[in-house]
Amino acid sequence: MSHPHHPHGQHPGGHPGSHGHGDNPETIKETYARIKDDTSGKTAAEYMKNMKNQLRLVFWETTVGCNLECIHCRRLDVSTTLARDDMSTKEAFDFVDAVAETGKPILVLSGGEPLFRPDIFDIARYAVSKGLNVALATNGTLVDDITATKIVDAGIARVSISFDGADAKTHDDFRKIPGSFERSIAGFKRLKNLGMSMQINCTIAKHNVDQIDDLYQLALQLGADALHIFMLVPVGCGVQIADDQMLHPRKYEEVLNHFYDLSKEARIQTKATCAPHYFRIMRERAKEEGITISPKTHGMAAMTKGCLAGTGVCFVSHKGEVFPCGYLPVEAGHVRKQKFVDIWNDSPVFKKLRDPELLEGKCGECEYKKVCEGCRARAFYDTGNYLAEEPYCIYEPKLMRTGNKQ
Ligand code: SF4
Ligand code: SF4
Repeated sequence: MSHPHHPHGQHPGGHPGSHGHGDNPETIKETYARIKDDTSGKTAAEYMKNMKNQLRLVFWETTVGCNLECIHCRRLDVSTTLARDDMSTKEAFDFVDAVAETGKPILVLSGGEPLFRPDIFDIARYAVSKGLNVALATNGTLVDDITATKIVDAGIARVSISFDGADAKTHDDFRKIPGSFERSIAGFKRLKNLGMSMQINCTIAKHNVDQIDDLYQLALQLGADALHIFMLVPVGCGVQIADDQMLHPRKYEEVLNHFYDLSKEARIQTKATCAPHYFRIMRERAKEEGITISPKTHGMAAMTKGCLAGTGVCFVSHKGEVFPCGYLPVEAGHVRKQKFVDIWNDSPVFKKLRDPELLEGKCGECEYKKVCEGCRARAFYDTGNYLAEEPYCIYEPKLMRTGNKQ
C-alpha cells in the first residue's frame, strides 16, 4: 500500500537519537494539530529531530492470501488461501504486544488481502486496546455491508484502498479480474458512508502515469481524506517486476513536480510515497517560491522525510521476518526468533540505514541526503547494495557540481 507514513509525536525527553520505548505521548496528528499554524518551520524541524529513528509505522503482511493477482504485487507466492506459515492468532496477539512495547506506531494491517484472515478484526481490536493506531490496507473488493461495519466496529482508524488506475479498464487489466474496479469503489463508498477515514493508494508506473490528475479527481469525488501515490519499486520480498513498467528518471521528476503542484491545492492530504526525492523537490520548489517549509505551508509533509525504511518504518512478513520495508529484501530480524524491540533498536541493517553518512555515490554527496536518502530498495535492485545511490534521481548534488559542500 502506499503508505500512510504518519509519524507520531514528539519525544518527551527530546533525545534526538532515542527511539522505540513506547513512551511517546503524542501522535503526529496531535502534533500537527498543535503546530499546524506555525510558519517558522522551527517547530517541525524540532519535531523531526526528536523523532529521529522512532518507530512510526509497522506494515504487517498479516497473510499472504489474496483474491487478486496484481501484476506489480511484491509477493511471488500469491495464494488464494491462507498460507500455512502465516502467524497464528496467538502469534499475532504476541506480535501486537511486541509492537506496543516498542513504541506507538501506526500498525498497518496489510497482505496479501488482510480481510482473508478470519481473525483480522480480533487482531485489530486487540491492537487498538493496546493503544496502537490501526490502519487497514485492502483492495476493497471484499468490503460488503457486513464487513464494512466490522471494520468500523473493530476501531480501525483509517482504511486505504489501492487503485491501479482512475478507470475500470486500466485498473482491471492490472488486477486481472474484470469488475474489481467497481467492487473497490463500492467497498470504498460503504466505508465512507460509515464515517471511516479513507485513503486512496496508487502505484504509479508507465501504464497509469498519465492518469494522476484523474486519480486526484476520483479521490476528491469519492471524498477521500488522502491520496498517496507510490512510485514503483522493481523489487520486493521475492518478486521482480518488468523493467518496462519503470518510469524514466526524467518522467519521474516531472510527475513529482506535478504532484507538488496538486498538493499545494491542499484540498486533501497528498503524499508521494517511496519517492524520497520528492522531499528534495519540495525544498527546491519552496525555495523558488520564497516559502519556508512549515506545517502551515506543506502540511504533514513538513514533518517527515523521504525514505523511512528502517528509520521510521519496517515491514513484517506473514512468516515474521522483519525487513526495512516491503521492497527491500534484506532481513533485519525475525519475530519468531527475536524480540521485536531488540530488532528495531539493534538490528545492524537498521543501524546502517539510520546513518546517512554511510550513503554512497551521489546520495552520499548530496546536500539533501538527510531529508531524502534515496530509495534504498531501488539502489539494492540496481547494484545489490542498499547504500548505493538512488538510480531514479536526476539531481546532481551541489558538491559534485562545484566541488564544495554548502
Ligand atoms: S527503500 Fe524505497 S520502497 Fe522502501 S521505504 Fe524507502 S523509498 Fe520506500
Ligand atoms: S541524489 Fe540521492 S539524496 Fe540527493 S536528491 Fe537524489 S536521491 Fe535524494
